[in-house]
Amino acid sequence: MRTDRCGDLRLTDEGRSVSLCGWVSRRREHGEHLAFIDLRDRSGIVQVVVDGAQDLRAEYVLQIKGEVRQRPDETTNTSIKTGEIEVQAQEVIVLSEAEPPPFPLDERTEIDEVLRLRHRYVDLRRERMQKNLTIRSKVNSAIRQAMEEQGFVEVETPMLIASTPEGARDFVVPSRKEPGSFYALPQSPQIFKQLCMVGGVDRYYQIARCLRDEDLRADRQFEFMQLDAEASFVTQEDVLAFISYAVLSATEAITGERPSEIPRMSWQEAQERFGSDKPDIRFGLELVELTDIFTSTEFRAFEAPCIKGIRVPKGSDISRNRLDDLTEKCKQWGAKGLVWMKVENGELNSPVSKFLSEEEKSALKETLLVEDGDLLLLVADERDMVRHVLGLLRLEIGRPPVTEGGLSFLWVVDFPLFEGVDEEGNPQPAHHPFTMPHEEDIDKLEKGDLLGVRSQAYDLVLNGWELGSGSVRIHKREIQEMIFQVLGIESEEAQEKFGFLLDAFRYGAPPHAGFAFGMDRLTAILAGEENIREVIAYPKTQSGADPLTSAPNPIDDKHLNELGLRVLPPKQ
Ligand code: ASP
Repeated sequence: MRTDRCGDLRLTDEGRSVSLCGWVSRRREHGEHLAFIDLRDRSGIVQVVVDGAQDLRAEYVLQIKGEVRQRPDETTNTSIKTGEIEVQAQEVIVLSEAEPPPFPLDERTEIDEVLRLRHRYVDLRRERMQKNLTIRSKVNSAIRQAMEEQGFVEVETPMLIASTPEGARDFVVPSRKEPGSFYALPQSPQIFKQLCMVGGVDRYYQIARCLRDEDLRADRQFEFMQLDAEASFVTQEDVLAFISYAVLSATEAITGERPSEIPRMSWQEAQERFGSDKPDIRFGLELVELTDIFTSTEFRAFEAPCIKGIRVPKGSDISRNRLDDLTEKCKQWGAKGLVWMKVENGELNSPVSKFLSEEEKSALKETLLVEDGDLLLLVADERDMVRHVLGLLRLEIGRPPVTEGGLSFLWVVDFPLFEGVDEEGNPQPAHHPFTMPHEEDIDKLEKGDLLGVRSQAYDLVLNGWELGSGSVRIHKREIQEMIFQVLGIESEEAQEKFGFLLDAFRYGAPPHAGFAFGMDRLTAILAGEENIREVIAYPKTQSGADPLTSAPNPIDDKHLNELGLRVLPPKQ
């Protein structure tokens, strides 16, 4: 039906006869018998000149046959790529009429998200969405190509499975054939990819749909896509290299530049310097250790196991209101308070100055390398709390928007094997229960010093977003059983839930390791979007609803009966 796309026409096409198809983006009358139509398709917009009165309204779908001609000089529009030409229509065919769109499709107007999602088919026509979908497709294809080049084979794993633990709630699907029994939808293909290794696949990958029933956020949807990979006879080094190659290739495919090698940091260092296991290293404002300065302080608030501070260069003109607001935030995050100091004429001005000794003040100035005009922000508490609160404070005051500060990939390595305990006092895996402990720390495991055990797990971080995680896996039945036991998973339960994996390990499991990262997150950052919903064609709202199809929906009694289900009345 068409010879060209609207946005592709240039001055070099002058004089050509073309046929174009698209939507009426805008219509301007010029006297009674002349109209200018902005015709839009995926590639962009072109101006079409239509003679004679015709009823061509916004979002009508047209086919235009006509001739490309140069615009008169004074009407050239440098803000669009086709701005030097226009198409003189010879024939206008209305392919579809349209009601007025539910919201303006220009990029300038902010539109309510529910309205956008309810009419996503209209929303998708916007330039921003077309650009994002194209970027997404390119990222997918670059990643696929990178994995194939490295000898990985794409294997599809099932959606209806038994539960795979990734630390979230499962979505479940009732079985009609076996009422009362349920499939889980995969939180990840974790167990299947490990079984692929036992099965000799050697290098597996999949752009896999994963489902987790968690609260939704800017970087989280119920269902999301991961590049999921696993390889046999490899070390952590190999996996880092495979994945680095893939994400750097995807980045290059979008930005045209290949970032240099991805730096590494241990989990411990990330926590101490950035107060986070996913540090945004696009900016400074690092956490500085101050504990030693205050070991014999008279200031009660500083009698704590850990004190750290952030120096904000030129931050001293901050308003009192903002300081109160930051203090309030720190309290919400769990701190007892926030101590602030302004560096003025070489002095530390603060409501707490009078409680600090001269030695303490000069040690502070020296350690933080202060300069006049700086603002210092200090928190004293348990070490974990100090890191947590200052880590969040750092982001609150310094985090650049997604479109600024470049792309800072970072590998975070040497994660602890366990983090904290659950309500029953059982340690929780920091990654998942299939992660291999650090070889040097196996004796700590045996001695019960659980929180001191490091794992062979690693995360990939981009601009402060956790892109993904992976680990060297346990491939020996005895170690896997020991870990289940430490986690409080009784052998019977382990057999029931993961018996098939433990069984598989009897039949010759190769050492293996893997990784998975979120394609939506990577794509969002590469597209300069703060929210992954902008790079997903049909996302759910923050509350998990789909305004387009109105899912989730109740189902009728007949269907419930068939599944052997009964719905309880809503809780009061
Ligand atoms: N299955 C893990 C996840 O989804 C990734 C991995 O360990 O490969 O986070």
